[in-house]
Amino acid sequence: MKPEANPVGVHRVGVIGGGQLAWMMADAAKKLGVELVIQTPEATDPAVAIAAHTVLAAIDDAAATATLNCEVITFENEFVDLEALYQLAHRGICFRPSLDALQPLLDKYDQRCYFRDRHIPTPKFSTHLLSPEFPVVLKTRRHGYDGQGTFIIKTVDQWEATLQKLGNRSLLMEEFIPFDRELAVMAARSITGEIVVYPVVETEQENQVCRRVIAPADLPASTRVEVQSIARSLLESLNFVGILGIELFLTPNGTVLVNEVAPRTHNSGHYTIDACTTSQFEQQLRAVCGLPLSHPQMICPGALMVNLLGYETSQSDYLEQRQQLAALPNAFVHWYGKTASRPGRKLGHITVLFDSAADLRQRAIALESTIAAIWGGKPSLSR
Ligand code: ADP
Repeated sequence: MKPEANPVGVHRVGVIGGGQLAWMMADAAKKLGVELVIQTPEATDPAVAIAAHTVLAAIDDAAATATLNCEVITFENEFVDLEALYQLAHRGICFRPSLDALQPLLDKYDQRCYFRDRHIPTPKFSTHLLSPEFPVVLKTRRHGYDGQGTFIIKTVDQWEATLQKLGNRSLLMEEFIPFDRELAVMAARSITGEIVVYPVVETEQENQVCRRVIAPADLPASTRVEVQSIARSLLESLNFVGILGIELFLTPNGTVLVNEVAPRTHNSGHYTIDACTTSQFEQQLRAVCGLPLSHPQMICPGALMVNLLGYETSQSDYLEQRQQLAALPNAFVHWYGKTASRPGRKLGHITVLFDSAADLRQRAIALESTIAAIWGGKPSLSR
């Protein structure tokens, strides 16, 4: 791949976090002619393999971040120590997105307050954990991911057991939304304020972990426009530079509510690598390097992305299953090179492109069953 000219002269981008999201920045980094310097705690983390240099340190180790020695630092993981990073910003280290843009997004309660204060629809919420009506949702305010830290509670017994288990962690309680579907959208903003919004997609979670994404979501134009305008208004009000992943609920009566915002690339945007003109990873790098953004549109009428989750506790590399999946027509298998499989661990994903939009949802769901049968493990609970 021939590197593109890089007119702003950013040559080294620091990335806090070295999981699959950082690993998937590699192709874009090569294309744009930038080196990635990765801060991550374990030498076996996926992005160590693609880094020009790695600083082995905890995500919230700001003293380590100070040694990344890059023109700009961005994030693939938001479990940072913001106060400590502010000290670095005051010394002139450049973070994109800015720490001010991250501030309202690191804690699920702060996010909900941010949405409410800006009239962005979001579930009702409270930090007063008193006599709820069931079902109700209990969340840890920080450090939740892939449903770790999210509990859908249906009985008093479950409520009490969960509170006991969580001990004195800071919690958020919110209304359970009996959604019809979950939606997501990726959107990016450049240093000049230029915005691009990717297609709105449908996601499905199982046990609170993303299982599959169908792109685009089959939606009335008005819903699509509403989601896109929420994305724009969030990027603008945060003065955000970089890429944002937004997860939403669509209720049976067509109401859209924002569930969560991730200030980085997101699992719901993995389909963009194979199905869009510009991947979410390239868009992130373009934004944080001060380059103009590039087109977000799809190169095909539809796509399905399915996460490949571990189901064995072993060193299994699932090679046979991967080969069979890669042989499916128009399929692209991405394997993150993690050294150990654990049940539920995200080990890779597959994206399949469709050459027609007819019955996309139905055909994607049928194909997901085929993929699940090849992949093995526990059959999907959802059908
Ligand atoms: P995480 O940060 O771990 O991804 P989320 O807050 O996004 O956690 O929740 C994970 C999943 O749990 C959601 O995608 C959704 O399926 C379910 N969920 C979360 N909050 C609610 C809610 N208020 N009502 C109904 N389901 C919810």
